[in-house]
Amino acid sequence: MRKEDRYKGVIEWFSRNMPVAETELQYMDPFQLLIAVILSAQCTDKRVNMITPALFEAFPVPEALAAATPEVVYEYIRSVSYPNSKARHLVGMAQTLLSEFGGKVPSDVDELQKLPGVGRKTANVIASVVYKKPTMAVDTHIFRVSNRIGLTTNSKTPLATERELVRYFPEALIAKAHHWLVLHGRYICLARNPKCGTCGLQPWCSYYTERALTGEG
Ligand code: SF4
Repeated sequence: MRKEDRYKGVIEWFSRNMPVAETELQYMDPFQLLIAVILSAQCTDKRVNMITPALFEAFPVPEALAAATPEVVYEYIRSVSYPNSKARHLVGMAQTLLSEFGGKVPSDVDELQKLPGVGRKTANVIASVVYKKPTMAVDTHIFRVSNRIGLTTNSKTPLATERELVRYFPEALIAKAHHWLVLHGRYICLARNPKCGTCGLQPWCSYYTERALTGEG
């Protein structure tokens, strides 16, 4: 199948079956989303959503978080993965936000990455979700799902995957496609046991087609 046709089929299927696709993290403003995305690294959105209400109430603005110690922040986030380093990152992020960006979450991916705890993936999520920029944050789900379906070929790193997806998805759909692929990976195309039997993407999925051809599907 030509790659363009694969993308076309996948886009049509998601547009029909997942017309609304958004982050599952709960937040009220860009600052809160930035905190939630930092906390969500190697952790589930569900777990993050359980602890953020109390955290947001205690530290509603960058000034409050910047003035806190990592030890105090740790008590609010101890149930997420890597709480020690995330507590340090959150305080450092708030301090840098104030010293470098006037307390406002920047929209530029390079500037976002100057904040402690913010790598390329987190920066792309903020640029996409908050500022509606055509950036593709590649997490473990997107990396796996894109590869299985055949949306990416020979992309061995998250950055290569990002570049390939951005090249083929129409610009207006990139932000949405991020959520399509994350949610599909989270609930259907699971890492260990993908639910191929009930997956609507079968006709365009190279993993499924190959397994069907070899009698494994
Ligand atoms: S058919 Fe299977 S491998 Fe392909 S996208 Fe669906 S669940 Fe994933």
